[in-house]
Amino acid sequence: MADPRQEKIALLTSLAKRRGFIYQSSEIYGGLRGCWDYGPLGALLKMNVKSAWWRSVVTKHGNVYGHDSSIIMHPKVWEASGHLSGFCDPLVECLLSGSRFRQDQLEAESGTVFEYCGAKSTVNDKRSDDSYKVLAKNKGEYDKAKKTAREFYSVKRGIEKPELLGEKSYEIKDSVGEFNPENGGQLSEARNFNLMLKTFLGPAEDSAATVYLRPETAQGIFVNFDNVRQATRAKIPFGIAQTGKSFRNEITPKNFTFRTREFEQMELEFFCKPGTDEEWHEKWKNERMQWYIDYGIKKENLRFYEHPKEKLAHYAKSCSDIEYLFPFKAQPEWGELEGIANRTDFDLKTHGEFSGKILSYFDEETKEHYIPYVIEPSAGGDRATLAFLLDAYAEEGEGDEKRVLLKLHPCLAPVKVAVLPLVKKEGMPEIAEKLYAEFLDEDVNAQIDINASIGKRYARQDEIGTPWCITIDGDTVESGTVTVRDRDTKEQEKVALNEAVDYISKKLRKSRP
Ligand code: ATP
Repeated sequence: MADPRQEKIALLTSLAKRRGFIYQSSEIYGGLRGCWDYGPLGALLKMNVKSAWWRSVVTKHGNVYGHDSSIIMHPKVWEASGHLSGFCDPLVECLLSGSRFRQDQLEAESGTVFEYCGAKSTVNDKRSDDSYKVLAKNKGEYDKAKKTAREFYSVKRGIEKPELLGEKSYEIKDSVGEFNPENGGQLSEARNFNLMLKTFLGPAEDSAATVYLRPETAQGIFVNFDNVRQATRAKIPFGIAQTGKSFRNEITPKNFTFRTREFEQMELEFFCKPGTDEEWHEKWKNERMQWYIDYGIKKENLRFYEHPKEKLAHYAKSCSDIEYLFPFKAQPEWGELEGIANRTDFDLKTHGEFSGKILSYFDEETKEHYIPYVIEPSAGGDRATLAFLLDAYAEEGEGDEKRVLLKLHPCLAPVKVAVLPLVKKEGMPEIAEKLYAEFLDEDVNAQIDINASIGKRYARQDEIGTPWCITIDGDTVESGTVTVRDRDTKEQEKVALNEAVDYISKKLRKSRP
């Protein structure tokens, strides 16, 4: 039987495509790996996720300032930040198929390794003395292993009808990154692969014109620290926040929009006095965790992961990730939604050294100069959107009563209200059109749906997460009331037609965390 968690991701992917949330990028040309497009509903949902983040991180805190830096920055930025020399993943390649994997993401494997010291052709005198190993995870895979080895000598070494030479075998246990999980074939030694995407500025395609697409938005904030501080006259502690695209040439983009090569980040750099950093780190950790809960993710699907000291990035004093229980097959199923790091004074200090412009702060009260410490909650817009979708996906009822729904928080739902005339006569469509226009006028994103049975129309709205449906029926024509149906409870309430817009707007406002 299929794993129900995996079934969920398959169902959601199909709903996302069918209803216009998320599609593969450049689909008509066969798609582009690691890139995704957001359709009409997906674009709204992601925009709502970003607005909810902005409201919580920027608007609600008087001392956090918004920012929007460019994607392409001076190449020195990446030298100073350490990305040019150190932003690498260990890449391994299958010697037979050329498939590439991130070594640290491969699962541990056990079994019997068959090692050959070469092969010779059975039709001519060609031979190869290169050794080659294949992993057989169980007895039944012995023939498969031999077939893979023969294929290697035939395809990669040009040996026609090869006979394998010198078979040796030995057992391995929990070995990581030696064999291709798909065909058992030997992988290359790991080499470091820089994840930054390169391009050229201007007409000359030489090293002097080489620039990088930013792999994180944070550096655009650090280099503008002085500009923002001066313009806002901000006093420590204060923050600078921005959302925007980042690019990483991920070796193995996978799991729908979880790991992509172009993605959106929502980052805050919060500057504080050294010595107060640990307290601020705790505050931001708790506040950011609460944000996911407030916008509807179930507590049991969220957890903190504390990075062990020996695995921290070179600049970080401590780092905690907020993780979500993603229904992906690969272990671990917990996946990072957001990293919250104490970056110390590393960034301002190194940009100061590389640029020659000291990026420090003068405390007018204590008359001290110091380089602020930075707490960085760094979230992914696409990963958050995916987690909200997955957590909202639900199936209820049986048989004819069965319905699929997205229990999205009303603030995140792409469509807030649907206006549905019960029948296409007695003036109901005209009343519906008018009400629909009033919602749009009030900036409440609405849909009008005139066709199909009322049950089918409710089902369409449930499936895209619309929190409320308003039915225009006989009572509307006779006594000026409409029926408001709640997506989650299916409860219905009568409301005066001329108060409907106000009623929904108030509900929306009240739902805001
Ligand atoms: P991972 O370990 O999953 O590669 P990371 O630790 O490199 O992530 P950060 O550098 O901390 O990620 O980036 C902050 C956030 O940006 C992540 O928590 C995630 O939400 C998002 N993010 C990073 N890389 C990707 C990606 N390839 N695709 C989608 N989102 C990403």
